[in-house]
Amino acid sequence: MSDEKIDSVISENRVKLHVFEPSQRKIWTVVGKEKEYWLDPEADFCSCASYYFGKMEGKGDCYHLKSVRLAQKENKAEIIKFSDDEFVDFIASLAMDF
Ligand SMILES: [Zn+2]
Repeated sequence: MSDEKIDSVISENRVKLHVFEPSQRKIWTVVGKEKEYWLDPEADFCSCASYYFGKMEGKGDCYHLKSVRLAQKENKAEIIKFSDDEFVDFIASLAMDF
């Protein structure tokens, strides 16, 4: 897994931080080639298949998680604001993608 992959995710603004107001609830996603992945960097979770299988095989984090961590550190995520009313619909639309 190359760092260029992570760099391109960052430089193409594919790390999104969805902030729900007024609760300040945060949802991280990374836009991949075919779908958008849902991540929780605090819980060390990504919804992609390579994360799932990587964990089972004892490999490290997927490049989505690494990208989110880097974006957090360097303040490079694209921040998108929502209202709390939209939270349920937002989660439902992400869940449908899995
Ligand atoms: Zn992933």
